[in-house]
Amino acid sequence: MSQPEKKVLLAAPRGYCAGVDRAVVTVEKALELYGPPVYVRKQIVHNKHVVSTLERRGAIFVDETEEVPEGATVIFSAHGVAPVVHEEARTRSLKTIDATCPLVTKVHREAVRFASDDYDILLIGHEGHEEVIGTSGEAPEHITIVDGPADVDNVTVRDPEKVVWLSQTTLSVDETMETVKRLREKFPALQNPPSDDICYATQNRQLAVKQMAPDTDLMIVVGSRNSSNSVRLVEVALEHGARAGHLVDFADEIDEAWLEGVTTVGVTSGASVPEVLVRDVLSWLAERGYATVEPVVAAEESLLFALPHELSRDIKRLSGSEADAVRHDGAFEDAGSLH
Ligand code: SF4
Repeated sequence: MSQPEKKVLLAAPRGYCAGVDRAVVTVEKALELYGPPVYVRKQIVHNKHVVSTLERRGAIFVDETEEVPEGATVIFSAHGVAPVVHEEARTRSLKTIDATCPLVTKVHREAVRFASDDYDILLIGHEGHEEVIGTSGEAPEHITIVDGPADVDNVTVRDPEKVVWLSQTTLSVDETMETVKRLREKFPALQNPPSDDICYATQNRQLAVKQMAPDTDLMIVVGSRNSSNSVRLVEVALEHGARAGHLVDFADEIDEAWLEGVTTVGVTSGASVPEVLVRDVLSWLAERGYATVEPVVAAEESLLFALPHELSRDIKRLSGSEADAVRHDGAFEDAGSLH
């Protein structure tokens, strides 16, 4: 009897989202413009390969602004920062470039607006995640973090008639809806955010995984352990029928034993993962008989964000070229490894 053909289902969309692309290009452009070192507060995006590549080019990653020498340039990561961090940077006369994803900034603005209207804000997200720390720092007295459905029992509010929920941008859509359902059972007047806080990139990557998972014996998600959206992709795959699922930073982390009895391998990558790492995984699989690759397309993406205005302004001033300042796709193409 002939064996079923071994193959790979390759998710689309996968990998870089508009916010990550913008943040990485921000560091690259800053290094080009100001020369190394350029300081970056926290990992610019949650990916080991991206961080180590930028380190080799002269970026210095620090945990706090106090580690940045007075007067130096510091870039804030895609995950966003609390207002207090901007204040600290001002006190230390740092030149700041804010690479916060505009979709995270949108959630910050929602938090500020609801807080000024004196709402209790239930921020669904992972306690301790940088984005959640940044968003809750906008209105600490008004925000309560709700870390998943199991946390709902602990939530108390001042006025159950004046409550709204917001969320981290990179959560599981299904789990968040479960958390909201439970919150609404407790607070029937709970208001929804004005628009989706879970971003388009997170939603699209989960959608593709949901489509592939029932036909997948093994799902390989390329991404780092501290990348929230990547970790969620493994969970979503397992919840929707994949028999096994693993997160790997690099192809050489794949265990040959995972392939035992496996006909169909699903492959995807988190929003902070450069495509070169997915190509490595595909080559690794092809060498082991999984050479047929079938794309599974859940959505088309074309969004691009303009660079942070502080950087665009300096590019214009120093290069005299306005076109350079607004066009950032394709920058550093010759570096290859990050795009
Ligand atoms: S995952 Fe979403 S919110 Fe996060 S950087 Fe990408 S587009 Fe922005």
